[in-house]
Amino acid sequence: MTNSSDREADPKRNHPSAITSCIIVGGGITGLITATILQRKGINVIVLDKGKGIGGRLATRRMSHENSVEGVFDYGAQYFSASDPRFQVWVDDWLKHGVIKEWCQGFGKSDRKPRYCGVNGTRGIAQHLAQDLDVHTNTKVVEIGYDSFWLVKTEDEQQFQGEMLLLTPPVPQALDLLDASLMVLPLDIRFSLESISYHSCITLLALLKNHSKIPAPGAIALEDNYLTWLGDNHQKGISPDGYAITLQASPSFSEDYWDSDDAEIAYKLLSAAADYLDSPVIKYQVHRWRYSLPKTFHPEPYLALSEIPLIMAGDGFVAPNIEGAVLSGIATGELIAKRFKG
Ligand SMILES: Cc1cc2nc3c(=O)[nH]c(=O)nc-3n(C[C@H](O)[C@H](O)[C@H](O)COP(=O)(O)OP(=O)(O)OC[C@H]3O[C@@H](n4cnc5c(N)ncnc54)[C@H](O)[C@@H]3O)c2cc1C
Repeated sequence: MTNSSDREADPKRNHPSAITSCIIVGGGITGLITATILQRKGINVIVLDKGKGIGGRLATRRMSHENSVEGVFDYGAQYFSASDPRFQVWVDDWLKHGVIKEWCQGFGKSDRKPRYCGVNGTRGIAQHLAQDLDVHTNTKVVEIGYDSFWLVKTEDEQQFQGEMLLLTPPVPQALDLLDASLMVLPLDIRFSLESISYHSCITLLALLKNHSKIPAPGAIALEDNYLTWLGDNHQKGISPDGYAITLQASPSFSEDYWDSDDAEIAYKLLSAAADYLDSPVIKYQVHRWRYSLPKTFHPEPYLALSEIPLIMAGDGFVAPNIEGAVLSGIATGELIAKRFKG
């Protein structure tokens, strides 16, 4: 995995790379699954991601206090389950490699269906997938253009060339990239993509002094005006040295308080959760997810243009969760592999 800051002195900067078979924009779970499938089939592939770390909404962060307490927080996706046998194959592999574990079989009442989480946080799944791939983090794609092959330009003035391009950012961000590149989609496709919208989610990460009162197995889903989820990362097992709590605000709170300052957000959310926390807060951070869970999604696992080799995929296609994103990535990998074989 390469970080763009590692290449500051690279003489190849400003010069296009050799033509690769497939360029994937987005190193979330969708992009990483597709890249893994292509690489296993011998098709060369590059993944470009604007994030400092890999994984997109599979996000885990550390927060320390006075070098004595360290909390580890899952602040994007919290857990997942598997229904589709094609996803179960990947889940079994991650279990075998010790990347994930069964957290519980339901929150509150057990339904005997395993809920999984990353052994070291959900980002660990992305890091596991990325370890053998050509992944470039800190690499924001700002312009794309097609003229018999793709030319992809990044914010730090790198250029990548590819035969096929896959866009996996949340759909509104992918559309912004197409607009910035003056790429016009057929009207029916444009309308269908514009209808895919996402909830926003304000997430508060709170490091507590004492054990929380969140019931076992360490999470509770709420139907509150302010809060939808409280997750105790200590009980979950990813934060052994700190009482690290993730509080997810409801879609309506997130819209209403999006522009409020962090202190006001923290005050409101911590007050709403007070009965479950019952502890002084040592430290907190606020994270704003503009695109959290898709409200509406495309019925097919990807959208492939017929005129040019451009495909769009992600959790805005199929289903709004990790399983949906993986199924989108699998279908997209199989489609691209078939095209290269053809
Ligand atoms: C707060 C929250 C809670 C959630 N809880 C759950 C849960 O409990 N269970 C569950 O199953 N799912 C949950 N989800 C949803 C789940 O995280 C997503 O469905 C899944 O991770 C989407 O993966 P993806 O690869 O499609 O998109 P992303 O993870 O968003 O990946 C897209 C990537 O594209 C990159 N990118 C965007 N623009 C550019 C650019 N111009 N150049 C380069 N890179 C770019 C981004 O950095 C990002 O890494 C949650 C999401 C959030 C935000």
